[in-house]
Amino acid sequence: MITTEAIVLSRTRYQDTHYICTLLTKDLGRISLFVNHLSQKKSRLFNLTTPLTQGEYIYKRSRSKRYFLIDADPLSYHLKLRQNLKHLQVAMQWLQLFLSSQHVNQPSPKLYTLLSAYLRYLPNSAKISNINASFQLKMLHLEGLIPPSLLCSECENAATSLHHHFYCEKCKPPPARPIPEEVLTLYTPLIESRSFRETEHLVCPPNVEQWISLILQKFQ
Ligand SMILES: [Zn+2]
Repeated sequence: MITTEAIVLSRTRYQDTHYICTLLTKDLGRISLFVNHLSQKKSRLFNLTTPLTQGEYIYKRSRSKRYFLIDADPLSYHLKLRQNLKHLQVAMQWLQLFLSSQHVNQPSPKLYTLLSAYLRYLPNSAKISNINASFQLKMLHLEGLIPPSLLCSECENAATSLHHHFYCEKCKPPPARPIPEEVLTLYTPLIESRSFRETEHLVCPPNVEQWISLILQKFQ
């Protein structure tokens, strides 16, 4: 039997009362667990396997090399976060990022700590767009998917525009779209900010989230 701290990323039904849960664990990266005979009547385990729930999960490996959930203990249901639609949407978007990018069974305690801290902070956030942008950048940076600053793909000068790749003023092809000054100035500070307060003090343009997702698309 194995016990690990984890956050539930998704739960998918595959037969009447059988489910597969995908968890981001603290020590083992992303794992999928089979949960048999789960029903809303057994509400404890049903709640513990709902996305966003954080807890200690006990599971075993079967002879068929599948993992089966045996029991779990809650650490947090993140109830405060679930009470606000905007918070919930942002949090679900973060889980989705992990589902689409995290490699299976690749331990990443730093990523787990990052998600855990941001989920706890999100309902108290005064500036959700900054928190959302910094989470996405920090996460993909930790995964080694994005560089610490945006550089021209031709000459490695600071990038100023975007067209499939990043370009500096000198190298940009005619259809390249300029990246707003504020986004360029904020990119590195959002990755490197050391506290939520610092992140919220950064002056981001209202459409910072759109720009960040556009930039991130180039790396995925
Ligand atoms: Zn260049």
